[in-house]
Amino acid sequence: MKSRYVFVTGGVCSSLGKGVTVAALGCLLESRGYTVALQKMDPYINIDPGTMSPYQHGEVFVTNDGAETDLDLGYYERFTASKLSRKNSISTGQIYNSVIERERKGDYLGRTVQVVPHITNEIRNRIYALSKEEIPDFIIVEIGGTVGDIESVPFLEAIRQMRFEHGWDQVLFVHLTLVPTITVAGEAKTKPTQHSVKELLALGIQPDVLICRISTPMSKEMKSKISLFCNVKEENVISASDITSSIYEVPKMYKEEKLDEVVLKSFGIEPKKSNFIEWDKMVKKILNASKKVQIAIVGKYISLHDAYRSVYESLSHGGIANDVIVELVKINPEELDKSNVKELLKNVNGILVPGGFGDRGIEGKIVAIQYARTKNIPFFGICLGMQCAVIEFGRNVLGFKHANSTEFNPSTEFPVISLIEEQAEIEQMGGTMRLGAYPCIVKKNSLAYQEYKSEKIFERHRHRFEFTLRYKQEFMEAGIDFSGYSPDEKLMEIIELKNHPWFVGVQYHPEFMSKPISPHPLFAGFIRAASKVKI
Ligand code: GLN
Repeated sequence: MKSRYVFVTGGVCSSLGKGVTVAALGCLLESRGYTVALQKMDPYINIDPGTMSPYQHGEVFVTNDGAETDLDLGYYERFTASKLSRKNSISTGQIYNSVIERERKGDYLGRTVQVVPHITNEIRNRIYALSKEEIPDFIIVEIGGTVGDIESVPFLEAIRQMRFEHGWDQVLFVHLTLVPTITVAGEAKTKPTQHSVKELLALGIQPDVLICRISTPMSKEMKSKISLFCNVKEENVISASDITSSIYEVPKMYKEEKLDEVVLKSFGIEPKKSNFIEWDKMVKKILNASKKVQIAIVGKYISLHDAYRSVYESLSHGGIANDVIVELVKINPEELDKSNVKELLKNVNGILVPGGFGDRGIEGKIVAIQYARTKNIPFFGICLGMQCAVIEFGRNVLGFKHANSTEFNPSTEFPVISLIEEQAEIEQMGGTMRLGAYPCIVKKNSLAYQEYKSEKIFERHRHRFEFTLRYKQEFMEAGIDFSGYSPDEKLMEIIELKNHPWFVGVQYHPEFMSKPISPHPLFAGFIRAASKVKI
């Protein structure tokens, strides 16, 4: 069988939850026994989001093969079993880059290189690449941006061509739009959706399925009105009302709206039986939990939820594993110091310091870590968070005055964190960190081993700096256990404190591997330890 293509576009405005919709559709199709591949097309010119500020873009999600990608790929992985790699995250920058490279090599044999067909062909080839090795039943492609934007036009043209060439039984267009409610009139308005469909029609695309974001479930009358004005069958107008309880309820909402059945029927496929029990059970666990666990996140981008999206999601998975609700207490490290640390952290059950770059807020993070270490509060340090724990221990236990990372103070007397050797020569910023999954040996008789129950793990990385090996002996003698390391024992991947209920720092990003169905062992362990703390 050939793969079927589902293209998901967005209309009216951004932030409608296209990524979650794509992930949820993947989840529903998988629950019926189909295989899916999910892909994101981003219309920006950056090659990838790796060099963008989290305020511009939210977190950078990292795949096993070390691609720095859009955070929507995080949803794809958390909601489905599909494998993601560099191939699943495409940007305008990548498309143009390869076309221009080929032009310089002379591959176009004297022809004028143009948006149509050269750019559109390159886009299409990136889509076809997903069915080269294995042939998934469905390839779901999310077109980033909003229909009507100049940037997304080549992508829309490419998918229009695909529909024309492969036909209606192999290509489906799903359009996600907004049906806003005018509060004073108390009325939901369909006009923006009609206009957005007109924009698509002008580009030669007639959507087959409309998913309408709306605050309360859409009435039958409204569905039939949208159906009539937009040339979309009434049963193909899906109401996507706001879900406030848990993001993991979204697939269920779409299942009730029959989104997966509508998609399958549009392709002329008789839907296989759905097995949604496991997902349902997991959602019930979330909804039935009543005990609350407060976790402090000490990070400089706390004002933007998307900046630590995978960390927050993974914490909630830790909650699922322990039947508790995880409540986030977001703390700006620039506003935390010795004078207020007790006040700010006295009501939390655990403290997490996430990854990051640059020295802003470092001193506040170190104060928070010292508090966790000395007051026996469960602590989880991720990447920069682990590095800060090393700095804190160096300064306050070993007496290394002004110990630091060379990232923040290149001339520190005690560079307990320093540049990885092979990073020294690198000048280019984009895509040059230590990226992607690497093996890590977990020491038996350690807390890490207790959590992982495995001596060899693979975790994803995104960093340039590491623990400076020559200080290892001193740290060990003072109570740090290096319980995880690279197979050549050169990179210390996990640190833990011996006499502490739960104090773990990891050089990698476990948040990229956690799923609600299979919570990451370290997040599960951290929340378990935190839930035992009496405030
Ligand atoms: N800035 C640190 C490094 O490059 C930590 C990176 C991170 O937290 N992702 O090593």
